[in-house]
Amino acid sequence: MFLADRFVIGTCPSCGYENAYGDQCEKCGKSLSPSELINRRSAITNATPVLKETTHWYLPLAQFQKQLEEWIGTHPEWKPNVLGQIRSWFNEGLADRAVTRDLPWGVPVPEDIAKKYGVDASGKVLYVWFDAPIGYISATKEWALKKGNPGLWKEYWQQKDTRLVHFIGKDNIVFHCLIFPAILMAYGEYVLPENVPANEFLNLEGNKLSTSRNYAVWLDDYLQRFEPDSLRYVLASILPENRDSDFSWKDFQARHNNELADIYGNFINRTLTFAHKYFESKVPPLNELNELDKELIDRLERAPERLGGLIDKYQFKAYVRELMDLARFANKYFNDKEPWSTRKSDPESCATTVNLCLQTVAALSVLSEPILPFTSRRIWKILQIGEQRVWDEFAQNRIPAGHVLGKAEILFKKIEDEAIETEIKRLQKALEGGSRNEKPQDELIDYETFQKIKLRVAEVIKAEPIPKSKKLLKLQIRLGEETRQIVAGIAEHYKPEHLVGKKIIVVANLKPAKLFGTESNGMLLAASADQKLTLLTVMDDDLPSGSEIH
Ligand SMILES: [Zn+2]
Repeated sequence: MFLADRFVIGTCPSCGYENAYGDQCEKCGKSLSPSELINRRSAITNATPVLKETTHWYLPLAQFQKQLEEWIGTHPEWKPNVLGQIRSWFNEGLADRAVTRDLPWGVPVPEDIAKKYGVDASGKVLYVWFDAPIGYISATKEWALKKGNPGLWKEYWQQKDTRLVHFIGKDNIVFHCLIFPAILMAYGEYVLPENVPANEFLNLEGNKLSTSRNYAVWLDDYLQRFEPDSLRYVLASILPENRDSDFSWKDFQARHNNELADIYGNFINRTLTFAHKYFESKVPPLNELNELDKELIDRLERAPERLGGLIDKYQFKAYVRELMDLARFANKYFNDKEPWSTRKSDPESCATTVNLCLQTVAALSVLSEPILPFTSRRIWKILQIGEQRVWDEFAQNRIPAGHVLGKAEILFKKIEDEAIETEIKRLQKALEGGSRNEKPQDELIDYETFQKIKLRVAEVIKAEPIPKSKKLLKLQIRLGEETRQIVAGIAEHYKPEHLVGKKIIVVANLKPAKLFGTESNGMLLAASADQKLTLLTVMDDDLPSGSEIH
């Protein structure tokens, strides 16, 4: 077979990296053709590929260099890392690029086009980076059809006031800043990207992420143990905007505990606790303002434009920093105004302080919504101010005095060391374990060792989900005279009600363990293939539970 692009690997002629792909070196970013690689080998079989002649369609990218340079020249505001990469492509001179491949899968070259040029296109498919960005357009066309307004997609792709923004990683800059725009220019009538705020790479605990080696943080795993907003906040804080950055669990814990819990969460909690305790859960009136009050109001009035401006310029890290600075200032305001002492010495000033702190809570909840959307909704519920909040509402729309507040709650609980250590160990294990595909050879055991495992038939008498766990079910099983509880990771494959009455096979002499705080006395057997899981059972339904398996 023809080995297109990434099916050929070898040593990069530019930096010496040994696992460079046939289209690009991931280490130094250089664009390559398979014939440039040293020590070429097939990514499938490791065999040495042989050069063979074929015919391809080309995108005449070189013809578009001048037009592309002029257009990029109108965007000095783009990020320097993006412009730098584009300039180096221009300096090398753009080369025409093959947009077909000889592959057994992919989108075939349309027959009518092949016919029009009198060429045989059988077996040829479109190169992924030729048709993938066109897919952005097709997707909106399909969406418009489903909405019953077939022409609606044109209002996005063919109207001058559209802001087309590609959020991508640095390895895709060339496709979104040169190849796709050249295709759009060639066709005409389409808007070009307004910005491509590409990020650099994010590493994990000092190493490159690798999904195949399970060296990654999987979102569904993460969500079983932590809050979504904590991850959103930390990722926005360390975003590799201009250089590669690193996610570490210790840093995650520190930012969650020291910033979200101690600054942001603490200010909101102390404000609400105070209002509940001393102002009958109502917003107190705003009285005469002193300098400090005016400074807080001034900061709140300026915040929407400042923070919104940073988001508009894709400076998310700076936005997060300014947001936290505002929360920090709010805490300082609370401390400096000492409402706990003015409560007796100057009740009017105390009321003003608490009123302004509550307005600040509302402002923070709106201004942080882009990164903390779940928390914002919780705050709106606590403040009882509804969900229709607007970004710059502070000045026009303060919460009125007398407004009744809802019950306060802790927004961010501290993350303990143990929780983080478990995550770090999981990653270390993945690093040590090597590739998922390199399974160690099965070790042979003798019959005596096998006999140590007591397998028995059990009948499921009760099954129920375990709260907060997507994977686990709690089962009560009967083993002859005995009833036992086991926990099994089968919730994604079996509904509890379908399990009752089933005869299953369990390991009866497994040491008890606790899973999600629930005790498990045994383990059931199941077979899996292609992520589908099937419980092992017995062919004879009448076999009594407790029967031993030999
Ligand atoms: Zn390289």
